[in-house]
Amino acid sequence: MISYESARAAILRQLTTVGTVRKNLLDSLGRIAAEDVVAPINLPGFDNSAMDGFAVRFIDAQATMAFSVVGIVHAGEASAPEMQPGTAVRIMTGAPVPALCDAVAPFEDVDEDGLTIRVKLGVTLRSGQHIRRAAEDVRQGDTVIACGTLLGIAHVCILAALGCSSVLVYRKPRVAILSTGDELVDPGEPLAPGKIYNSNSLALAAAVIEAGATPVLLGVARDDHESLKAKLAEGLDADLLLTAAGVSMGDRDLVRPILLELGVQPVFWRVEIKPGKVLAFGMRKGKPVISLPGNPVSALVVFEEFVRPALLKMLGHRRVFKRPVTAVLQQELRKKPGRVFFSRVRLEYADGMLHAWSAGNQDTGALSTMLHTDALAILPADRATLGIGEPVAVHLLSDKIEMLKPEDD
Ligand code: AMP
Ligand code: MG
Repeated sequence: MISYESARAAILRQLTTVGTVRKNLLDSLGRIAAEDVVAPINLPGFDNSAMDGFAVRFIDAQATMAFSVVGIVHAGEASAPEMQPGTAVRIMTGAPVPALCDAVAPFEDVDEDGLTIRVKLGVTLRSGQHIRRAAEDVRQGDTVIACGTLLGIAHVCILAALGCSSVLVYRKPRVAILSTGDELVDPGEPLAPGKIYNSNSLALAAAVIEAGATPVLLGVARDDHESLKAKLAEGLDADLLLTAAGVSMGDRDLVRPILLELGVQPVFWRVEIKPGKVLAFGMRKGKPVISLPGNPVSALVVFEEFVRPALLKMLGHRRVFKRPVTAVLQQELRKKPGRVFFSRVRLEYADGMLHAWSAGNQDTGALSTMLHTDALAILPADRATLGIGEPVAVHLLSDKIEMLKPEDD
């Protein structure tokens, strides 16, 4: 048995990204840049007006407050009209500023009389006002996005502004998912006595998608040597093989010995956690194999705590763990000392803090409790009872939260 922290570290230590792929900007959202992006152009590309108004020479404005308007320039137009000292050009936001001009007087700061404008009494112009200078935001050749950056909306925006239509990102790992068990029947099929529906395959596939990777469903292996060996071998082609069930002490728990036969080097088996103790991890030719417990609640909790960070690392993320958030217990929680316990809790936010209640029956068989679970509370291994008012670290399953005592709309 190894500790929760050591098991997490042992998995991450072995994993790397699985190649790169060029994506158009929309498809890059949420992915990790696999290249430094160097600005191919300046931003802004040319001196342009930040306001609708009149472009003038600042020095003229010191001598006279009246200008004759000699032309107009709109956004998108390349050439600015010829300017003489003492003249002004009507200019729209985003339009190139005529060569001699070094200030824009906004419409609201001038009085217009035919082709003459006059800066309003009491208004003083500043040199350079309302002009966005070429390259003041980004200079051609600057690194605007570093390799390893998580690409969000702002990154898509700046790449588009720079004229980049695609970006190199880390490839999504292909995650083979294999359920094992003679009792399993796929949803939609009739259920014979003694059988249960296979919920792990689809639940794990959903979790893989949600983490940003690509699931490859291998179906179900039966609890016999031949079936397991064939399916496990198939799964070893993927970037990561996830198996569910068949890794405990039962007569037909054959997954680990067959993985050994297939050349998988075991890294650890069994972790000081509950649920999910029988988690196993091994490597074959640089590819990871994570064997999850069969119980669907255990499988999902272990996915959240171990597999999701692993997938994020394979996707190139630098930050793979959820930030622990503190919640205050509103209800006593009990556990046996010895292992870290992941307690499924419901959360509400009030008075500047999170309040936590048990989400319901904490038995690993209680799948429906997951439906009301906002977070996993991480109860330390050495504790037995955690009392009302005690702070606990929680890992949020969702960022959305219920607000207690909401104000009236
Ligand atoms: P095992 O580790 O194979 O003993 O499985 C532990 C428990 O999880 C047993 O009650 C299994 O019936 C159940 N189980 C295993 N695989 C699945 C699955 N794919 N979907 C739902 N329950 C499962
Ligand atoms: Mg089984």
